[in-house]
Amino acid sequence: MHAVIVGAGTFGASLAWQLARAGHSVTLVDQFEPGDRRATSGGETRLIRCSHGADADYTAMARRARTLWRELEHESGEDLLVECGVAWFAHREDGWEAASERTMAAQGIPVERHDAAAVFPSFRADDLAFTLLEPEAGVLRAQRAVQALAAQAAAHGANVVRARARPDGAAARLDDGTRLEGDAVVWACGGWLAPLFPAFVTLKVTRQELLFLDGGPAWRAPGVPGWVDYDHAMYGTADLDALGVKAAHDVEGPPIDPDAELDDTPATEPAVRAYMRRRFPALEYAPLTEARACRYELSPDSHFIAAPHPEHAGVWLLGGGSGHGFKHGPAMAERVITAIAGGAPLPDRFGLGERSPANSLRTAGSGVVS
Ligand SMILES: Cc1cc2nc3c(=O)[nH]c(=O)nc-3n(C[C@H](O)[C@H](O)[C@H](O)COP(=O)(O)OP(=O)(O)OC[C@H]3O[C@@H](n4cnc5c(N)ncnc54)[C@H](O)[C@@H]3O)c2cc1C
Repeated sequence: MHAVIVGAGTFGASLAWQLARAGHSVTLVDQFEPGDRRATSGGETRLIRCSHGADADYTAMARRARTLWRELEHESGEDLLVECGVAWFAHREDGWEAASERTMAAQGIPVERHDAAAVFPSFRADDLAFTLLEPEAGVLRAQRAVQALAAQAAAHGANVVRARARPDGAAARLDDGTRLEGDAVVWACGGWLAPLFPAFVTLKVTRQELLFLDGGPAWRAPGVPGWVDYDHAMYGTADLDALGVKAAHDVEGPPIDPDAELDDTPATEPAVRAYMRRRFPALEYAPLTEARACRYELSPDSHFIAAPHPEHAGVWLLGGGSGHGFKHGPAMAERVITAIAGGAPLPDRFGLGERSPANSLRTAGSGVVS
């Protein structure tokens, strides 16, 4: 098969890697270099965790992705997945975290209730019912991972092209007029997917923020886990690679054009500092070392998009990461390849039809939860 893939983010580059290493002919096109920070996959770090409440399918996909990220590390010689664990702060005995615990236990994924005060250098738990630890979860070096995916795709023979593309019937037309045809043409274009296919894709592109605090040596990974407070829409990581302690207020930010400049002004700093006072008091006044803006591309129900184009055989649309797509890249790619080959179909909820926010992974007041 010859595949043309437009978009070298986690979804497109994963697809290119898997197809190329399976011996297929691949052309991977992106308007930027892989890992560019204007792409949603371009940040330095992303959480990888299996917790998805009662959702067994995303849970299993995240676990499969972990295995595939390890395979990519093995192939590329890169150190991409820092297994520092992820801690979930549960406000109720029977909420999202307890559902995640049951789902993971049923799939044999290590998970335990633990004493978070013993692992975080400063911790307040007076509003929590318990803390759940996924010891084999952690942090992916995202930008480097995407670069490794593209590099390994190239090492297996893929042609990686830097160009902007637009749909031309079943083909992709590059800016210089080149027309790329394939047995499969996959558009994995992140926040640009909806403008390219407005009749079939609904995505809201929003501005999101990441803050980095100087917590000092005590907060360096891998001794300190990543963490998520789902009910308070907050998450973060320890200080990995001297970036600082990462903290994000994970509420939906203002809409932004995918081509707009990203303004790094830290508008969420008051909310993040208020949360630090509540949870990690030693970090309340920690110096802000950096603020980063990036984009989410949110589907109406937070579920991914992976479906054939209704009018052009062989054309597929892939995206809708909705703030939680990074970790799943290689496992989604595996499923998409199977579907393209006529094997197991993708779940209906990844389809192009109407979507209802009522089916969202998010719950009232929660964030997207990366
Ligand atoms: C702040 C933040 C924190 C996040 N945290 C997490 C986390 O902890 N864990 C997690 O799993 N996920 C997380 N996510 C979500 C995750 O990063 C995204 O879901 C995922 O990266 C989306 O990947 P993608 O391949 O769909 O899109 P992208 O990475 O945006 O890739 C799309 C690519 O398509 C290219 N492209 C678009 N249009 C064209 C065109 N016409 N021609 C050529 N090229 C084109 C773009 O240049 C781009 O490189 C986070 C996202 C953000 C913004």
